[in-house]
Amino acid sequence: MTHPFPRHLYVHVPFCARRCSYCDFSIAVRRDVPVREYVEALTTELDLRFPGSPTDQRTLDTLYLGGGTPSRLGAGGIASLMEALRARLGIASDAEITIEANPDDVSVGAARAWRDAGVNRLSLGAQSFDPRALAWMHRTHTDDQIADAVDAVRAAGIENVSIDLIFSLPAALERDWAHDLRRAVSLAPSHVSLYGLTVHERTPLGRWRDRGDVTEAPDETYATEFLLAHEVLTAAGFDHYEVSSYARPGARSRHNASYWSGVPWVGLGPAAHEFDGARRRWNVAPYARWTQLLRVGKDPIEGEEVLSSENRAAERVYLGLRTSSGLKLTPAEQSAARRWAEAGWASLEGDVVRLTAEGWLRLDALAADLT
Ligand code: SF4
Repeated sequence: MTHPFPRHLYVHVPFCARRCSYCDFSIAVRRDVPVREYVEALTTELDLRFPGSPTDQRTLDTLYLGGGTPSRLGAGGIASLMEALRARLGIASDAEITIEANPDDVSVGAARAWRDAGVNRLSLGAQSFDPRALAWMHRTHTDDQIADAVDAVRAAGIENVSIDLIFSLPAALERDWAHDLRRAVSLAPSHVSLYGLTVHERTPLGRWRDRGDVTEAPDETYATEFLLAHEVLTAAGFDHYEVSSYARPGARSRHNASYWSGVPWVGLGPAAHEFDGARRRWNVAPYARWTQLLRVGKDPIEGEEVLSSENRAAERVYLGLRTSSGLKLTPAEQSAARRWAEAGWASLEGDVVRLTAEGWLRLDALAADLT
């Protein structure tokens, strides 16, 4: 029996021009991106794991090209990737198709080609507008290139632009977070995603820290900057609809919402994760290993786990609390939620609890409170 193909597809594109100082993703640093090899391996994975065709009623509502840096595939690379996917999958006429891009990969010509291939949403890895912070992060773009990229994307006819920013940088960088937020708002994005800097082992940043060259920002900086972002962005008309995500009306990420609502999605590419409604699986991460397995016709799976009932219960709480839709409480959970509301961490409406920004600062602890 064949299972229906999920309506959400994540495609991992691992290529990057260089490694950012904080990044612990499994990436493939390439000056020349092996577009043809990658697209062939990706379609082999799709054909191997999901034999069939669009006539099998496989239609996507969302497609997310993430990475790594998908924009490194260039104009032609995205076109050939999309062509290969369309030969195997239906894509709904109103599907959300997102590409993650670094500012220095964006030109009007490239963005037009992406739009012509069907892309209608672009997530721009800006991270900061501070030249010193950008250099420290080993980003390959300048602050001016961020604005240029947004202009180019709009000129190409893609209106739905999301901007990623990183906060809670070390104090020694003297990064002005309020200034960065204002610069982001001035570009009128439809969506903003924020990430607190995390220091991972085996990254340049981890080594700097271990040598004593870098001191991480204290928890208070994280809290202050998280709350400042909430204040600035909501005042500018953004809806803080998920712990890390802000959207203009109608511009919430439909793809990410599928992760938070617990529906199945497919993940293709090295290190891609997938959820079929009951089971998670993830692929081998190194690009060379992923292509090697596919070349000999093997599923590039690295691991899988079937969610236990405890996992599912914890997931229900965590996913419910992380979005502004909130969590429908069981009677046993209601007294804890009342305490949160008294502390200003949540609001209660009937049996639904929604965390405030102060509550989201404590998301892990509050979720643990219920589980
Ligand atoms: S561009 Fe993104 S994926 Fe690539 S190294 Fe930098 S943070 Fe990591």
